[in-house]
Amino acid sequence: MNIAVIGTGYVGLVAGACLAETGNQVVCADIDAGKIARLNGGEIPIYEPGLEPLVERNLAEGRLAFTTDVAGAVSAAEVIFIAVGTPPGEDGSADLQHVLAVAETIGRNMPATGPEKIVITKSTVPVGTAGKVRQAIARHTDRPFHVCSNPEFLKEGAAVQDFMKPDRVVVGVESEFARHRLGELYAPFVRTGKPVLFMDIASAEITKYAANAMLATRISFMNTIAGLCEAVGADVDKVRMGIGSDERIGPGFLFAGIGYGGSCFPKDVKALVHTLREAGVDPAILDGVEKVNADQKALLLRQVVDTFGEDLSGRTFAVWGLSFKPETDDMREAPSLTLVRGLCQRGARVRAHDPEAHHEAGRYFADLLGMGVLSLCERNYDCVEGADALLLLTEWSPYRNPDFDRIRAGLREPLVFDGRNLWDPERMAEMGFTYRSVGRRSRPAAAPQPALAG
Ligand code: NAD
Repeated sequence: MNIAVIGTGYVGLVAGACLAETGNQVVCADIDAGKIARLNGGEIPIYEPGLEPLVERNLAEGRLAFTTDVAGAVSAAEVIFIAVGTPPGEDGSADLQHVLAVAETIGRNMPATGPEKIVITKSTVPVGTAGKVRQAIARHTDRPFHVCSNPEFLKEGAAVQDFMKPDRVVVGVESEFARHRLGELYAPFVRTGKPVLFMDIASAEITKYAANAMLATRISFMNTIAGLCEAVGADVDKVRMGIGSDERIGPGFLFAGIGYGGSCFPKDVKALVHTLREAGVDPAILDGVEKVNADQKALLLRQVVDTFGEDLSGRTFAVWGLSFKPETDDMREAPSLTLVRGLCQRGARVRAHDPEAHHEAGRYFADLLGMGVLSLCERNYDCVEGADALLLLTEWSPYRNPDFDRIRAGLREPLVFDGRNLWDPERMAEMGFTYRSVGRRSRPAAAPQPALAG
């Protein structure tokens, strides 16, 4: 099929490359000329495992192309995916200006002849958006076309894998023609029998928000239970295993930590709250999810202040992990934003390391880097040298089993705050660390420690 993917961000680039990989002719278009120039020069603007070889191969074999000519791309394609951003507006609702701008472009560039086009919203959009897309296109053309909703469920860090082997594909359709063509398009991705779930458009639009809100709810729920565990001296990891083995609950998304971030959960929960209010449905449960998450992002900061007091001047902290989760360089809404700023505002210096996010950190923390209160270290152990404590924010693989002797030797005091429950409290105590994590009893170091407060 001839496909145009409009918006070449995480979703558009991955979708475009994967659709080309299954033999389609794909043009990815974006208004960001810099991004398109980099892609045409063979440079992948994001870190995503497996994406680079996929893009290289399909570019070289002529199935994938990048352009800034959005009008040309939509005019030539039979199937058009809209994969532009839907950031939160001031009131929390999804800002549809980019989606509707693309719809207008499609309408204006509808050829007078040729096959009926299928226009698919892949961006995460509130219920009712397909209707707005239809109106925006129809303002400029009398030609018939089909509108579908095909929300994307890929996870950053495993995006290629998720797109190539999805748990399910959700497609909201209104016509048999669109249903048939999308069935053909997705058949190569569901050969193992995973379902393509066809449904009405409104249900497809709601499914995406319901999925993200459910996952965010599980995280905030477990973080609430972690607070209880901490208060009474229980262990949230034991509770996690106790409930996760119940088939009705399942083990996924039950890890306590310093909260969810990224480009999707925070904005999608906000947008769903807005949609619920508009529809007259009480969003109380999601108000709670957001409140717990905002609190949780500041948990390590509270633990540091508990230990050292409000004034952190003269202190230096080593931070491991800046991206909102492992295997991505994405720092949107990452807990590190709250934490690093909070430490620096209290007078501390921060030395941070992340395997992939230093470039992004340069954008988010330009001011702190410029003032010299934050520095980024090439190697994770460099941060630790002479620091007052180590703070673990992202559970990257290289941090899972580090050289603890080296950490202890580098730190001024053997003090570790673990925001992802990555390490074993008993082992940490045995190795002489004072160790705090999330919802697990903090154990004193086995060896006597000098007083830390001061
Ligand atoms: P992104 O910000 O990485 O990319 C969006 C791209 O759209 C940018 O490159 C931007 O330049 C381009 N764009 C904006 N307006 C345009 C226009 N008028 N014409 C052409 N290009 C335009 O965003 P993303 O993370 O890829 O997300 C896109 C959508 O997919 C969002 O609705 C998001 O909620 C949803 N989504 C994202 C993920 C994820 O993990 N990132 C997962 C599932 C769904």
